[in-house]
Amino acid sequence: MPVSIAVVGAGPSGFYTAAALIKSGQDCQVDIVEALPTPFGLIRGGVAPDHQSTKAVSRAFAKTATHERIAYFGNVHLGRDVSLVELRSIYDAVVLALGAPVDRELALPGGGKAGVYGAAAFVGWYNGHPDFTDLNPNLNVEHVCVIGNGNVALDVARVLVKTPAEMASSDLPDHAAKAIHRAPIREVTVIGRRGPLQAKFTNKELSELNDLMDCVPLVEAKDLPDEVTGRMSDRTHRLAEKNLKTLRGFAQRDVAERRKRLRFLFNARPVEILGGDRVEGLRLERTSLQDERAVGTGEFIDLPCGLVVSAIGYRMAPVEGVPIDAESGVVRSRDGRVEPGLYVVGWAKRGPTGVIGTNKTDGDEVAAQIAQDAGQGGKPGRRALEALLRGRGVRRVTFRDWQRIEAAEIAAASVGAPRRKLVRINDMLEILAKEFSGSQTNEPA
Ligand code: NAP
Repeated sequence: MPVSIAVVGAGPSGFYTAAALIKSGQDCQVDIVEALPTPFGLIRGGVAPDHQSTKAVSRAFAKTATHERIAYFGNVHLGRDVSLVELRSIYDAVVLALGAPVDRELALPGGGKAGVYGAAAFVGWYNGHPDFTDLNPNLNVEHVCVIGNGNVALDVARVLVKTPAEMASSDLPDHAAKAIHRAPIREVTVIGRRGPLQAKFTNKELSELNDLMDCVPLVEAKDLPDEVTGRMSDRTHRLAEKNLKTLRGFAQRDVAERRKRLRFLFNARPVEILGGDRVEGLRLERTSLQDERAVGTGEFIDLPCGLVVSAIGYRMAPVEGVPIDAESGVVRSRDGRVEPGLYVVGWAKRGPTGVIGTNKTDGDEVAAQIAQDAGQGGKPGRRALEALLRGRGVRRVTFRDWQRIEAAEIAAASVGAPRRKLVRINDMLEILAKEFSGSQTNEPA
């Protein structure tokens, strides 16, 4: 009897794990259980809509999903439609590939004012994630502050200043395109609590800002060090040198070159959100670096702004019965093994770091652990989950269903765009109901 394995989460770590399990040669059957009807996790809902080449990896994931020993259970929410205890009683092994979907909290006085968003919500909104479609941020503002010096901060800043022409080949959903392109935004400030040498963004993403059609990237030359110093690995040193060179180029740019400005402000940590009910400004304290940490100098700056997006990292969402380390926000495990029968991969295991391909190693490791632990299998797996969902009236979305949703999105795309995203679960399910009214809900994958 094949070992039955449920992988919960259809993002990169889930798909790499499913592929690794098949490649491992084990006699297994793998079911990918996903809360949304749509697969691919951050590839669809996190990677910026103008970075379509990064999203191309989903083609390899689609191949994995259609493997004869793999089935996709979309629109099946762990905790709502099926519990972890139930999954573990049905499957020989359960792998949590749940990512880190919750914003690390920006604990500031005034942080609860309207107009302050975490990147998980804001990026989800402009990427058409159904949970955030109705976020409806008020973009009737001239100045936006983005807190954080990682690639997510750069994504948010760039998407807010690009022109409709620059986004024409993206899959920015209609609601976000309308709001962003009507907005009177003239300036976006990207704020780092430490210096340019400590910034986490990669050089490709930073350099890309040189090519913006309607926006000039700027930084004060006096905020840039003469050379790269400090304790760091060779790799980090090389990245810091490249970034410094790119930033020096920004310092030479002329503010009048373009209509909009994307400014970098380093060595400034946010201390308070200013305003009444809505954000009207951000108070920052200048910092100096001590032992690689940002320490306040007692000098403050107030930046007027109407929108604050904090892109300061993510953590896991709590899952009943899963031990999460309070400090790091990840599932406690030994190299991915929580205990025999329960495993974790990806950001839920490592925290929100690395590139998409980093997840591959996690999948390989867990596949080897399952091979050690699972023995001959014996639990019913797929057919028991299908029966449970049918009994509860859950409309499971198969991978073929997803392909129908995708076909509808592609058919509706405007010229040059890859798709017009459906951003509501009901609209996705309606397409399936329309095209296949009367067909079985739990058809084979
Ligand atoms: P990140 O790279 O860890 O950056 C987080 C940033 O937030 C850091 O600059 C950090 O500063 C800052 N920060 C943390 N707490 C703060 C606080 N309380 N106040 C002010 N600043 C604070 O995280 P990310 O940007 O969310 O990216 C997550 C992962 O996704 C990364 O691996 C990233 O490379 C990847 N990603 C890649 C792409 C791409 O390749 N195009 C796009 C998006 C995301 P300190 O350094 O001082 O802690």
